[in-house]
Amino acid sequence: MIPRVEIIFLGTGGGRFATITQKRRTAGIRIISEGLNLHLDPGPGALVYSISEGLDPQKLNAIFVSHCHPDHYTDAEVLIEAMTRGITKKRGVLAAAKSVLSGSDLCEPSISKYHQQMPQQKIEAMPNMKFQVGGFNVSVTEARHTDPDSVGFRFETRDFGVFAYTSDTEYFEGIGKYYEDVRLLMLCIMRPAGKPWKGHMTTNDAIKIIEETRPEYAVLTHFGMQMIFKGPASEAKIIKEKTGIPTIAAVDGMRINFGETISVQAGRKAQEGLNKFF
Ligand SMILES: [Zn+2]
Ligand SMILES: [Zn+2]
Repeated sequence: MIPRVEIIFLGTGGGRFATITQKRRTAGIRIISEGLNLHLDPGPGALVYSISEGLDPQKLNAIFVSHCHPDHYTDAEVLIEAMTRGITKKRGVLAAAKSVLSGSDLCEPSISKYHQQMPQQKIEAMPNMKFQVGGFNVSVTEARHTDPDSVGFRFETRDFGVFAYTSDTEYFEGIGKYYEDVRLLMLCIMRPAGKPWKGHMTTNDAIKIIEETRPEYAVLTHFGMQMIFKGPASEAKIIKEKTGIPTIAAVDGMRINFGETISVQAGRKAQEGLNKFF
């Protein structure tokens, strides 16, 4: 059987207030397939929720950090410690934005030099660059955000096409070309419709990208407080009605099976929340 990809939303919150209140978890996304065990944007809670969802962080072989904001990087060092068996073995891949690895005018490096030298491979992720990890071809996409070095990622599977993650970005002319031919598009939608905020996307921006790229399936995640209070599921419904593309709002613990078909399962703890939406 051809191995499928499992995508686990360990957290679906984003931004300062969702983080400090933990109205939604901020643990990032785990992507697991044969040959790949990747943690994408390990914000606060990534280590704890990995373990509580039964995903051994010592099995990681890749950690990606899209930019230098705490809701994306705080647990990167402890996950590197897990990936490298307590810093005893050079293992795995760390791919991260330039600001995360080297700092910038706005931030110090988000991961210490000590931790950066332990993965077997360190990749400075810049837009349009391509590299391979765990049998996947990864392309780095452009994100325009308050950290100018921010990036998103596109994952090409051998047998099932492409899935992608925008990370925090605002909508810009040409963003759609980075997500052409994507079957599953995961979008960081911090704000609901009508509440724009520079450097971030709202439901209206999601509609524009989804209309431009026409994925088979769209998933909204990384919700800020205003989005959480508005109700991400009802915003997803608006997008689905406008675009005709199946769109759901992720909930904490939700799992997606990405193979010939794309199917969604609520995680154990998320089941109750999802029942309200379907
Ligand atoms: Zn964020
Ligand atoms: Zn950010």
